[in-house]
Amino acid sequence: MQFDVLTLFPGMFEVLNESIIGRAKEKELININLINIRDFSKDKHKKVDDTPYGGGAGMVLMPDVVYDAYNSVKSENAKVLYMSPQGKKLNQKKIEELSKEEHLILLCGHYEGIDQRVIDKIVDEEISIGDYVLTGGELPAMVLIDSVSRYVGGVLKDDSTKEESFSEGLLEYPQYTRPEVFENIKVPDVLLSGHHKNIDKWRRRQSLKITLNKRPDLLDKVDLSDEDNEILKEIKIENEVPNKVGTAQN
Ligand code: SAM
Repeated sequence: MQFDVLTLFPGMFEVLNESIIGRAKEKELININLINIRDFSKDKHKKVDDTPYGGGAGMVLMPDVVYDAYNSVKSENAKVLYMSPQGKKLNQKKIEELSKEEHLILLCGHYEGIDQRVIDKIVDEEISIGDYVLTGGELPAMVLIDSVSRYVGGVLKDDSTKEESFSEGLLEYPQYTRPEVFENIKVPDVLLSGHHKNIDKWRRRQSLKITLNKRPDLLDKVDLSDEDNEILKEIKIENEVPNKVGTAQN
């Protein structure tokens, strides 16, 4: 998958050379091409921004410089995303959808933002990573690249994205590893039983419980079976009884 990132601060993307995304780059499963918008300035001082028409604080990126940077990487099948606090909020569904694209061009604003005319001309979609304002679109672009790349074939082990939080609309069940007993707290017996059907049932129940307790709003958007609804009823009753001491999540 090809990511072209239009940015004033390509150095910020160094972090994507680490860990899973770094390895995905090395294996050429993804390619992240950083385009410095400043390289397209026509000004001898490499100026890329100017004061806003109509007055007001801050500086605005000039449309022609951004347009020329875009033209250097545009392709017919590329989708252009502007990282913006005004955009559609990024979620797992959107990430899965974007991972099916072959080529994403990510436009990172800075300062007060970008001249609206070039946004209107080149951008297919505006994407926000949350209802707060950052200094630039670089961190949001990295969040998008990281989360989308996880769905690119070969980047993760096959089933890693299937059962995790949000993939089926629920939060993921708790995970445990060695040692079997930590600070007198034992791993739930079922996980040591080797009985896969019971493990699946336990995990489903835990997913429902965690979602109910942490993000009950998600339950309204999930298709739940009759069995799930019965389990939820039981969990609500259980929630009124205090936790047992010395046992992890039963
Ligand atoms: N003046 C703009 C406004 O009020 O909508 C905010 C500009 S912000 C300081 C500078 C740049 O950071 C934006 O152009 C955008 O690219 C990026 N940005 C800031 N917050 C963001 C968010 N929550 N999601 C995605 N991009 C964001």
